[in-house]
Amino acid sequence: MAVAIVTGGTRGIGAAISRMLAAGGSTVAATYHGNDEAAEAFKAETGVAIYKWDVADPEASAEGIARVEADLGPTGILVNNAGITRDGMFHKMTFDQWSAVLRTNLDSMFAMTRPVIGGMRDRGAGRIVNISSINGQKGQMGQVNYSAAKAGVIGFTKALAQENARKGVTVNCICPGYVATEMVAAMPEKVLDSIVGQIPVGRLGEADEIAALVAYLASDAAAFMTGSVLTINGGQYIAN
Ligand code: NDP
Repeated sequence: MAVAIVTGGTRGIGAAISRMLAAGGSTVAATYHGNDEAAEAFKAETGVAIYKWDVADPEASAEGIARVEADLGPTGILVNNAGITRDGMFHKMTFDQWSAVLRTNLDSMFAMTRPVIGGMRDRGAGRIVNISSINGQKGQMGQVNYSAAKAGVIGFTKALAQENARKGVTVNCICPGYVATEMVAAMPEKVLDSIVGQIPVGRLGEADEIAALVAYLASDAAAFMTGSVLTINGGQYIAN
C-alpha cells in the first residue's frame, strides 16, 4: 500500500485527510509544525505516524521526508495541505505577515514536492494533491497575502501536472470554501455569520467533505485526472 505524506495532517482538514487515507489502506505520515499536544492526541487516537518540521524550510523538509521514507518506504502520495493565515488590509500589512503566509502556503510547495518528485517519476507512479482555497480563485479583501499564495498554488499545480503526466504522476488542486476548523473558528463571529450568509448551501463545509475529494484524487481511479482545480465551496463561488 502507498505511503502518503499529509502536511498539516494532525489538525483540521489535514487530520480528516490523514484519517481517510489511512482508512483506505495507505500508510500515512502526518506532519505538523508546533502544536505537539494536538499531534500527540491525534497519534494516540488514530495510530497514524506523526513528524514535526517546518514545511516552508526546504532543508528541514528534505530531511523530514528522508526520515519518513526510511521509516515507512517511498512516498506514493503527497498532500500539500499545511497552511496559515495572517490577515490584515494590505495598506497596513507588514512584510512579516506577507512573508509568513507566502512561505508556509507557497514555498512549502517547492520544499515538500521537490524531494519526492524524482522518485515518483522514476517509479512511474505518484499522486500529488495541493490544497488551495476559494480565496486563491476569487481574491479576498484582508487576505492579499493568502489570496496571492493560494493563487500561486493553482499555477504550481497546472505547470507541474504538465511536466509529469507522462511519468504516471498526477498533480491536482482543491479549492475549499469555508470549512469548520480552528482556522475558521479564529474569525470574529460577525465575519463568520456574514460568510455563512454568502454560502448558498447555508452552512460551512466539513473537513471530511474535503478529505473525500483528496481520497479520490489519490486513488488509482483518478489516473486520467491531472492539472485539475476542484472547487468545493457550497456554491459560494462558481468558478468554472
Ligand atoms: P488548521 O489551522 O486547522 O491546521 C493547520 C495544520 O497545518 C496544522 O496541522 C499545523 O501544524 C500545520 N502547519 C501550519 N504551518 C505549518 C508549517 N510551517 N509547517 C508544517 N506544518 C504547518 O488549518 P485548516 O485545516 O483549516 O486548513 C488546512 C488547509 O486548507 C490550509 O492550506 C488552508 O489554507 C486550507 N483552507 C482552509 C479553509 C478553511 O475554511 N478552514 C478554506 C480553504 C482552504 P500545528 O498543528 O503544529 O500548528
